[in-house]
Amino acid sequence: MTYITIQNETLLVPKQPTIPFIAGDGIGPEIWEASQAVIDAAVAKAYQGEKTIQWREVLAGEKAFKETGAWLPKETLAAITEAKVALKGPLTTPIGGGIRSLNVALRQDLDLFACVRPVRYFTGVPSPLKEPEKTDMVIFRENTEDVYAGIEFEKDSPEVNQLIQMLQEQFAVKKIRFPKTSAIGIKPISKEGSQRLVGAAIDYALANDRSTVTLVHKGNIMKFTEGGFKKWGYELAESAYAQQTFTMHNYHTLVAEKGQAVADQALADAKVAGKIIINDVIADNMLQQILLYPEKYDVIATCNLNGDYISDALAAQVGGIGIAPGANINYQTGHAIFEATHGTAPDIAGQGKANPCSLLLSASMMLAYLGWTKAAQLIESAIEEALTAKKVTADFAHSMTDATEVSTGEFGQLLTDIITAQ
Ligand code: NAD
Repeated sequence: MTYITIQNETLLVPKQPTIPFIAGDGIGPEIWEASQAVIDAAVAKAYQGEKTIQWREVLAGEKAFKETGAWLPKETLAAITEAKVALKGPLTTPIGGGIRSLNVALRQDLDLFACVRPVRYFTGVPSPLKEPEKTDMVIFRENTEDVYAGIEFEKDSPEVNQLIQMLQEQFAVKKIRFPKTSAIGIKPISKEGSQRLVGAAIDYALANDRSTVTLVHKGNIMKFTEGGFKKWGYELAESAYAQQTFTMHNYHTLVAEKGQAVADQALADAKVAGKIIINDVIADNMLQQILLYPEKYDVIATCNLNGDYISDALAAQVGGIGIAPGANINYQTGHAIFEATHGTAPDIAGQGKANPCSLLLSASMMLAYLGWTKAAQLIESAIEEALTAKKVTADFAHSMTDATEVSTGEFGQLLTDIITAQ
């Protein structure tokens, strides 16, 4: 087995890398089977046999539980840790106290701090928008902090009683409206956590010719946590990326100190010089902005909870979860898990109705992450061609006129044929 390694935050990818995959539960095996053939065909076409992926199945979810008694066996985590990059189908969330969501466990154990979700429109996909093609954004959602850190205390628990008492007595907090019946959650947002996420978003924008990075936050209300995210994000851009970016924080400082005309000129010069513009938008406004003016936004960097809402809202704008790809990445260690963003869809499992595009587009992101961009593009263009020809799985066929419905397997075969013929 040959493994991907990392040196100075640069991935070193052998020609035959071993890549673990988790087929997943529910519709997972169907979409995996359809997708694997397409991915292999794209790599073969792009590199004529010079590069291939050595797939290695690792277990998680129901299949793992049935075969090993563990939902997330240690061997799975060890294999992904060693191989750095993995592809994953959807997993059933085990029900029962004390068991972490498997997705959360993988993200936490590998410190996959950036949840990356590209959102673009494919011609022909049913969308609620009049002009869905204007939506083309990449969301960088912070994945390890915020109210999702899992620091919560139940109403009436000794911990919550102690915490409320401490807040009232030692910090003179008077704002807990119902102290006797409150549960409490904690929202940690750090400078390190914010800056590594914003840095990843700026790096992505630089590498992919994007023009803006928008910091999305609720700093108007949560001044120290989300306000900190915005402040540290701007600070990072103005220090580590001073040559490549121009911030709206800088713009407003210029307006105050030198007047509007000077600031406008500096912004215009930065655009001409091809600098990335770093701006910020308040989260609730952002949910309006992405609907009303999607063309104004490009790369988004945001805290965990905001990112969760914005990702799903944006996915719905361009065709929903069946086609939304995603990845969880630690750019410093190189660890990355590329995954279908939908769940196990038990209502359609085993019926050949599932759309494999979310997993396939995640695989395309994975190939791009490895630097195998030609293969990545082949997958995207094959999907584009199939959707334009209106040959689609059941989820899209229902809401498209004159569509030909094909099964999951037939859709995969169609894409393989398109790639092979290119
Ligand atoms: P779901 O995403 O599985 O299904 C929601 C709806 O979308 C269903 O009607 C389903 O048929 C449809 N759908 C989903 N993926 C589709 C696809 N590829 N093609 C066509 N239609 C698709 O969400 P749910 O029903 O809330 O969750 C089911 C299970 O999945 C739960 O155990 C949940 O915890 C788990 N889940 C896992 C992940 C993950 O592994 N990343 C994400 C979400 C939910």
